[in-house]
Amino acid sequence: MNQILPKKFPKQFEKLLDIIKTYNSNYEVDLALLWKAYKFSKEAHKDQYRQSGEPYFQHLYHTAFILAELNMDTATICAGFLHDILEDTNISEEVVSNEFSPQIVQFVKGVTKISGIKFQSEQQEQAQNFRKMLLSVADDIRVIIIKFADRIHNMRTLDALPEKKRRRIALETRDVYAPLAHRLGMYRIKMEMEDLALKHLEPRIYKELNQKITDHKKRSQNDIDDFIHLINTYLKEENIEADVFGRIKNFYSIYNKMIRQDRPLEEIFDILAIRIIVNSVTHCYSVLGIVHQNFTPITERFRDFIATPKSNGYQSVHTTVIGPKGIPIEIQIRTEEMNKTAEVGIAAHWKYKEPGKTDELDHHIHWLRELVDILKNDTKDDEEFLETLKIDLFHDEIFVFTPKGDLIKLPINSTALDFAFAVHTEVGYRCIGAKVNDKIVSLNSRLSSGDRIEIITSNNYNVSYNWLRFVATNRAKHRIRKWLQRHEFEQSIKLGEEMLELGMRKAKLSAKIKDVKNRYSEFGYETINLFYQAITKSELTVKHIINEFYHKKEKEQTEEQIPQFRQYRSTNGISVSGYENMLVQLAKCCNPIPGDEIMGFITRGRGITVHRYDCPNIPNLEEEKDRFIDVKWSVKAGRTFVTRINIICEDRPNLVYDISQVIHDLHTNMLNINFSTEGKLGRGQVAIMVESLKHAERIIVKLKNIPGILTIDRI
Ligand code: MN
Repeated sequence: MNQILPKKFPKQFEKLLDIIKTYNSNYEVDLALLWKAYKFSKEAHKDQYRQSGEPYFQHLYHTAFILAELNMDTATICAGFLHDILEDTNISEEVVSNEFSPQIVQFVKGVTKISGIKFQSEQQEQAQNFRKMLLSVADDIRVIIIKFADRIHNMRTLDALPEKKRRRIALETRDVYAPLAHRLGMYRIKMEMEDLALKHLEPRIYKELNQKITDHKKRSQNDIDDFIHLINTYLKEENIEADVFGRIKNFYSIYNKMIRQDRPLEEIFDILAIRIIVNSVTHCYSVLGIVHQNFTPITERFRDFIATPKSNGYQSVHTTVIGPKGIPIEIQIRTEEMNKTAEVGIAAHWKYKEPGKTDELDHHIHWLRELVDILKNDTKDDEEFLETLKIDLFHDEIFVFTPKGDLIKLPINSTALDFAFAVHTEVGYRCIGAKVNDKIVSLNSRLSSGDRIEIITSNNYNVSYNWLRFVATNRAKHRIRKWLQRHEFEQSIKLGEEMLELGMRKAKLSAKIKDVKNRYSEFGYETINLFYQAITKSELTVKHIINEFYHKKEKEQTEEQIPQFRQYRSTNGISVSGYENMLVQLAKCCNPIPGDEIMGFITRGRGITVHRYDCPNIPNLEEEKDRFIDVKWSVKAGRTFVTRINIICEDRPNLVYDISQVIHDLHTNMLNINFSTEGKLGRGQVAIMVESLKHAERIIVKLKNIPGILTIDRI
């Protein structure tokens, strides 16, 4: 490249260089390239203006500038200059390719792709778009960092836009970009995004908060100064060099805390916060010791993220102590390096990255890869995806250990079962119990940091719908659903075949069964399995098949369908709004009983299936919203319903007897009881007839009191 550099650069460009010089000692090598990107962009956008009236190029300059503030590499900064070129000018990709490296072109294309995604208000579409965005990020995370810089500048200059557009962009920033920035450890970016979003979404609250925080700062400034002075004195005595300063939490997190805890600003105490930056990890702990020697710590608020960093790379020691006037003060202690990582997150790892040395980065975005893997394999159920994504993005983490002492990070509220799936999918499927710190616990026990967990497995697969109710991780949910789906398909094939054979025999056409099985394609099914499945789902009734093949002349469709329904339990315990005499069956996956919140789902050819409101099967039906129908319990006294109870217990003599005795004593009918032992654990199921939820709960409470019972769940 033969580039003539000017003797003197424009001021703006010099300012950019000043930042780059602070972290890239080799910047002169890239000077020509940076200058070229600057000029190229300025020329390409020269006739364009922003809504505010300023030249469009200012947006590109500031995007590049923000990237430099994040200490990004030259290719990324150049792409910052060029990021709108394909979308907003008529310069072609080919022209850009002739001038810039394939990597830069890749970045620009990536950002253009994301920009093309409009986050619709329709949730389904939004999920779809978000999914696309994440998949594009997976190729190179720098694409999203450029997009962040672009978005930050747009947010800073949002005032010029009309209200409606401002809201849309602010919402998208708050719900999509900020959580992602958080996950990538880019706290500074995240906080600015959240604060700017709050400013545009809740201008009144923002203003009030701004005022109050300014007042509070003024009032507490003396306390903070005194405290900092005190700390500095102590540190000097020990010859520790440190930078001690006060800090203010971001508005949005204060606002959130006020809402979450329903407390006025005055009571959100940890607005008083200081940060201590030292030279080495050893000094971090020395400082911690000094602080704790002189001030009483609030132990439950102590966190050591140096020993166990967060998965986005964040490291620091957090402690809260009672300050001189009895005011709690939050203190963060970290090294310069850690501070950098905390501020710019994943971006910090691009600095001086050598080719092929991506291990550390890969480690930090492990969660992202996992999420992307799930996305790639699973193309259905967008709402669920959004939901899980939100959960994962906001969750904090706990740190637990395998029996061998390997560390596993899980989101807070994870259960022993989540742990099992985190270890290995197979371990999850075969899991029946767990030992936490040597004590046997049930699969739904929540784990805490520091727990050592040993999973108890059996030779069989034990997956159940019930598991979906308590697992907390995406991974476990996804694996369980996968298994259930696969398993369900097998079941429905078997059932369909049985229904066909039974129906044929009843119609005295046993001799024709083979014939029918060979002719499935005449109904338009590609495989025999799909044909069976259609029968199970009642998309195709056996009557219909028989009529088509053997009694073409018969009429009276309505009458004929009824015998088909008989194999399902029709219940009068349910009333359906607006309909009388509807065929109603209680879903077998969740076995609702009176007292449960329920909803009806109209099933083709089978009337209405009633599920429990929280049945994990319901989300799978989401796409067919108009098939939901309001149902209510309307039960005659004395009528009973099946409910199934899962029991895990220590294996001991007479346990099954004790269980039956309790049930008998409560004058309850038991349909069956089924127990097996695996190692020291017993696992079983009891099916009983109850009148209501209260009745079932009464029994569960009594059963819980039996010695040796570990968990009891209604299925
Ligand atoms: Mn832009």
